Amino acid sequence: MNTSRAAVITGAASEKGIGLAVARRFARDGWAIVVLDIDGAAAVAAAERICAEHGVPAVGLGVDVADEASVAAAERAVSAEVQAGRLPAVGAVVNNAGITSPVEFLDTTLDLWRRVLDVNATGTYLVTKAFLPPMLDQGWGRIVNMSSVSAQRGGGVFGKVPYSSAKAAVLGFTKSLARELGPTGVTVNAVTPGAVDTEIRVGSTPEQEALIASAIPVGRTATTDEVASAIAYLCSEESAYLTGVTLDINGGSHLH
Ligand code: NAD
Repeated sequence: MNTSRAAVITGAASEKGIGLAVARRFARDGWAIVVLDIDGAAAVAAAERICAEHGVPAVGLGVDVADEASVAAAERAVSAEVQAGRLPAVGAVVNNAGITSPVEFLDTTLDLWRRVLDVNATGTYLVTKAFLPPMLDQGWGRIVNMSSVSAQRGGGVFGKVPYSSAKAAVLGFTKSLARELGPTGVTVNAVTPGAVDTEIRVGSTPEQEALIASAIPVGRTATTDEVASAIAYLCSEESAYLTGVTLDINGGSHLH
């Protein structure tokens, strides 16, 4: 149990999303939870449910991870909770918030490109920068960044160029920061899921789903709980010597 630390999880308000599965898994492991999501009402509701279900302190805040002022306000709100003794200090950040760009290259706009880079990559930068200092003060911390198989192999139906580019930036960010923070006790790792059963893929046809599953050696897409358990390991005491790692969670798709 990790009752003495809080985990900040972005994009954790979506009912069927990976972030909420991560928050629930972390709460089960005893972490206090901070849910940051652009949907503020859903973030508050998610935190209330986590608190009720698992009996850990949980706070939900409406935040646009791509907006510096919004992230700074969230950091101030979390610090105030810590100062007041209602939350333990932040010990982990899971940069999970993300949006896709299911648009053919010549149909993309500069606004779409910028927004997808902003949410997936700049959001990771801003949230990490805001919540890193308390982890450095403790000499212990875990940062896990959500990339995607799209960064490694090019985006499929849902990703395409802006999304793959943003998720590739997340991998470079992870490796460089891991190198820089090596001696500090704060690890920085990335996960690259393949297809996961979430709302982000709503709108796909049965044919597209069958095509996706047929390309996965395990023969099916991942559950959100499977992604959450890999992230929980990267945030555990046991993973202290793992940093700068990209953990593939793709049912063996890298074998193709
Ligand atoms: P989801 O849409 O269910 O969840 C994304 C969450 O991020 C939502 O709660 C949304 O409100 C929030 N969000 C969006 N923009 C935000 C912003 N600017 N600030 C704060 N919160 C914001 O999607 P998901 O499938 O659970 O995806 C979670 C992460 O996993 C994403 O980064 C996604 O790219 C990545 N991923 C998903 C898959 C998949 O197949 N589902 C595969 C690989 C990687």
